[in-house]
Amino acid sequence: MALPLSWNDAKPLLEHIGGPVAPKDWQGGLPISYHLGGNDAQVHLKIDMDNSIKPYYVVEARIRGSEFPDQWVVMGNHRDAWVFGGVDPSSGTASMMELTRGLGQLLRQGIRPRRTLVICSWDGEEVGLTGSTEWGEQFQDELRQKAVAYINVDSSTSGPNFEGSAVASLAPLLREVSHGFQDPASGRPLYEAWKAAVERARAERKEAGPVTDANLVDTRIGSGSDHTVFLNHVGMPVIGLDFDGPYGVYHSMYDDFYWINHFGDPGYRYHTLMSQLWGVIALRLANADLLPFDFSEYGNNIGQFVDELAKGKDMSRLDLAPLRSAIADFTKAGRELDAAEQEKLASGKLEPTLQQQVNQGAMQVERNWLNPQGIPGRPWFEHMLYGARYTYAHLELPALTEAVDKSDWTTARQQAELLRQALEKNTHLLQELTSELQNPPTSAGGRAQ
Ligand SMILES: [Zn+2]
Repeated sequence: MALPLSWNDAKPLLEHIGGPVAPKDWQGGLPISYHLGGNDAQVHLKIDMDNSIKPYYVVEARIRGSEFPDQWVVMGNHRDAWVFGGVDPSSGTASMMELTRGLGQLLRQGIRPRRTLVICSWDGEEVGLTGSTEWGEQFQDELRQKAVAYINVDSSTSGPNFEGSAVASLAPLLREVSHGFQDPASGRPLYEAWKAAVERARAERKEAGPVTDANLVDTRIGSGSDHTVFLNHVGMPVIGLDFDGPYGVYHSMYDDFYWINHFGDPGYRYHTLMSQLWGVIALRLANADLLPFDFSEYGNNIGQFVDELAKGKDMSRLDLAPLRSAIADFTKAGRELDAAEQEKLASGKLEPTLQQQVNQGAMQVERNWLNPQGIPGRPWFEHMLYGARYTYAHLELPALTEAVDKSDWTTARQQAELLRQALEKNTHLLQELTSELQNPPTSAGGRAQ
């Protein structure tokens, strides 16, 4: 068991621990000399801690869709906190409560979304993402049939800097929606303020290159919040939203109402903006004639993942050409599907069965990135494009990357081939949808000319 102490309580222990002086790298921030520990001091430590087992509760609300009740847009935020959780997660919970209030008001006015909205308040996030993981596993089969996407908000606000993450197929939706809102502090479009925030963050990390539409949305998605089961295990496209800022009180007893009220978001303008943003994205997904996935952007992004994997490494033992060519095919198929969709929508003649078929097909794409065997050593992580390092940090092409990092070329070749097959499967799927859009079956069952 580990027990975090304040520095004030830790100081007398560290002062008296004795033994040899610790190496320079291990010297900490208190004005004392740090030692490794000896036999000189005896401590009587009394810890008062509640170790009893408690149930978790996931609270779930649904608005049944008027036209496509079996297509679900899922949203979620966790409710448990380390201590008071002013920012993490109660800022997110406040935004979610306000969002659900708004959706309820629309419903009372007779405005019901076309697809079903599922809104979840997770328990046990801080203890191994437990609530969302159990729920995602329990409804895994149904989710794989019905889920359009999952939109996660953990903390909604600890400052004014917008951070938006998404799998690349949903990045254009996120960018587009950001143009329609105003940053409360500067009055600029949220898109502009977001770009400026990402530019500052990149400058701090000394990263080269400008911020463009291609790299504005963070498509490097690790773990550490409730989206994990939906992306890595169930195979759902995910979006994550957050307003970030100087947040020194994270996971401490000072992360409370006072802090958020005085420092985090005085006036609650960013909380409100989060409710609006979250709701508009969800309703765009719930009401679109054709789901707004951009698979050519996804293809380009996967191409970048492969470039990064190969960068600065001797790849002579692994031929990436077949993989790159499969990515190019998928990207092209995505572009063609997009063009066919635009044309169909412009014609104003989208037949209901065709609409259903194209949307179900588009939902299947993310599922096709799953390998039922999982990544080597971690069978639960089934997604081939996204994984996480053991630290929660993002890890793209997880199985392939880990094999290359270990110079395990046999595994690397197997994993590259699995990925190529998944790309090929999705390319065929997109091509089928394109041809259905261009030559929809006539009511007589034959092909229209
Ligand atoms: Zn949290």
